[in-house]
Amino acid sequence: METSKITLEVVAPHGLVVREDVDEVNAIPGSEGEFGVQPGHMNLVTTLKIGVISYKSAGSEKYVFINSGYAEVTASSISILADSAEKAEDIDVERAIAAKQRAEERLKHADNVDFTRAAAALERATARIQIAKR
Ligand code: ATP
Repeated sequence: METSKITLEVVAPHGLVVREDVDEVNAIPGSEGEFGVQPGHMNLVTTLKIGVISYKSAGSEKYVFINSGYAEVTASSISILADSAEKAEDIDVERAIAAKQRAEERLKHADNVDFTRAAAALERATARIQIAKR
């Protein structure tokens, strides 16, 4: 039977970030590319990269920052296990700006190993700043 809502659950190491019955999920940052999910989607499991989940609930668009992880999709649910995640309204912008500056400073002097780590920190900070502004 066709279901009309999707239960979206986002869990990070510090606990539950989102558990909500939503109309649709417009964007999930899959490692192989961004994808959307509507009720009745085929089952799938995928890894996630740093990015933003956007979804529609009660007529409004909502955003959640995702720092990598896994997603399991069924016809009526999406379960996400992320390394870290925050709802847009919970993002501390000052902290993200400070993290961005630290990462940019490190990238100026980075050797190869540090580069990967600093580039990921920069990506996280940039995504957080972007979604906190929406
Ligand atoms: P920072 O250098 O500021 O710690 P980070 O990208 O290294 O940033 P993470 O490792 O992704 O941080 O997250 C560590 C914890 O801090 C997680 O619980 C995450 O949700 C939280 N966190 C990180 N940055 C922010 C932020 N700007 N606003 C709110 N929570 C944040």
